[in-house]
Amino acid sequence: MISTMQDEPLSLATLLKYGTTFHSDSEVSTWTGTDLRRMTYGELGVEAAKLANGLRGLGVGEGDRVATFMWNNNEHMAAYGAVPAMGAVLHTLNIRLFPEQLIFVANHAEDKVVIVDGTLIPLLGKYLPSLKTVQHVIVANGDASALEAPAGVEVHSYTDLLAAQPDTFEWPEIDERAPAAACYTSGTTGDPKGVVYSHRSMYLHSMQVCTSNGMALSDADKTLAIVPMFHAMSWGLPHAALMVGASLVMPDRFLQPGPIAQILAAEKPTFAAAVPTVWLGLLQHLDANPQDITHLRNVVVGGSAVPPSLMHAFKEKHGVDILHAWGMTETSPLGSVAWPPAGLSDEEAWPYRYTQGRFPSNVQARLVDDDGTVVANDGEALGELQVRGPWITASYYSPDGATIDPDKFDDGWLRTGDVGKISAKGFLTLVDRSKDVIKSGGEWISSVDLENAVMSHPAVAEAAVIGVPDEKWDERPLVSVVLSPGQAATAEELRDYLSDKVAKWQLPERWTFIEEVPKTSVGKFDKKRLRAQYGEGELE
Ligand code: ADP
Repeated sequence: MISTMQDEPLSLATLLKYGTTFHSDSEVSTWTGTDLRRMTYGELGVEAAKLANGLRGLGVGEGDRVATFMWNNNEHMAAYGAVPAMGAVLHTLNIRLFPEQLIFVANHAEDKVVIVDGTLIPLLGKYLPSLKTVQHVIVANGDASALEAPAGVEVHSYTDLLAAQPDTFEWPEIDERAPAAACYTSGTTGDPKGVVYSHRSMYLHSMQVCTSNGMALSDADKTLAIVPMFHAMSWGLPHAALMVGASLVMPDRFLQPGPIAQILAAEKPTFAAAVPTVWLGLLQHLDANPQDITHLRNVVVGGSAVPPSLMHAFKEKHGVDILHAWGMTETSPLGSVAWPPAGLSDEEAWPYRYTQGRFPSNVQARLVDDDGTVVANDGEALGELQVRGPWITASYYSPDGATIDPDKFDDGWLRTGDVGKISAKGFLTLVDRSKDVIKSGGEWISSVDLENAVMSHPAVAEAAVIGVPDEKWDERPLVSVVLSPGQAATAEELRDYLSDKVAKWQLPERWTFIEEVPKTSVGKFDKKRLRAQYGEGELE
């Protein structure tokens, strides 16, 4: 017997057409600093068609790379819609990468066109002479004449380019395995590595974002996408929003706690997504400037471990549930999400909320110990997390077919570099990244557990823990503490506070009080920088 089903390709063109037609009244809106620039999905459909026509006029064909160097805004959303749907590949450049990394990724991906926001012209201008394959730059939200381009690069105004275009586009039928978008990891070690998503992987991932064990996105939602569109595709929210007609609110470059609070007050989104440091900052802001945020049904937080104290503060002070999620650029990024099992009381649900969450049916996960043995999902045995599934990368992109970082893959599984345990019911608890675990006297200390314990102290705003060399124990933890404004605590007080929270031998002797924990290009604690400053590490 053979299946009688139609073999319709899963394509982002279908998704764009659907969202901009049947959900034409939903909106994407961008904060201007005082107000919102609104665009309906119907208007977005026209804008995407004009952009696709404009890009085709510049010679962009199937598989060509169109890069974005942009904040989260309406024009970036139009590029998210148009570029994959026309059969080209959207490459979201991380505007905060170190210069040499940014130049590396644009050349490695062979970007042909770059769409840049006006405010980012000075930054792009510095890199442009080193970008070997770029032929066109399109300036959105700014003055194109302000960009001095090297010979061979044509500069266009986004508005002028689109003004001359027809408002429909014949979206092609696309092979579902064709590349749709590319995203580079932020290169914690070595060169950034390219992950290329397919139409199929992004379509399936969008469906997962919308399911009730994903982010449960629906047309009842207005989603504040704080996570940058250059960080793992804004965690899949833009395409998922088109799939179900959820409205989007974009913060543009206004990412500080004050403006985020203003956007919350103005738009009352039902859902929001960002890394923990954003929420830690917002919490402090709200402590000083109280405001009702109960319009948020959930905020999804991931990218690094969410301190339980942060979850409790949001719930108890503001009535908002934080939804903890785990993922990577390599996993599109949605992996596990910590929805507690149904039917539990708030009290019973907390231990599940602290975990990194449960994997959906389409993401297989296993734990492998140092000897290469797969360990049991019994909630106790530790191992490196390995995953596989239709939206998990099988390799890193290489223009010449060379194999990049084969050690990251194990017999068809992606090695995540994260160490943890999985319960019999599929809930993942990460102990640490393998490179952040502190090895003290032959035992492991989880930097994350220590951080969570220190951050539960009321005077502490942020705490980051790294291992530093120690003659006797090999490594010992060093805690870098940022105190909340107007608060005081000494190292002795904090150590005392930890004494009933962590094992005695784990209690840190080394403490330092700092103004701010350095952050990576996507807003996570930058432990590499801390190690360079305090340990024996080196900054690359
Ligand atoms: P980078 O490696 O540059 O940080 P990614 O955003 O792809 O880029 O990071 C993926 C990594 O982030 C994961 O391998 C894991 O170490 C960490 N991470 C993501 N979500 C969580 C989480 N909920 N808890 C702990 N760590 C997380």
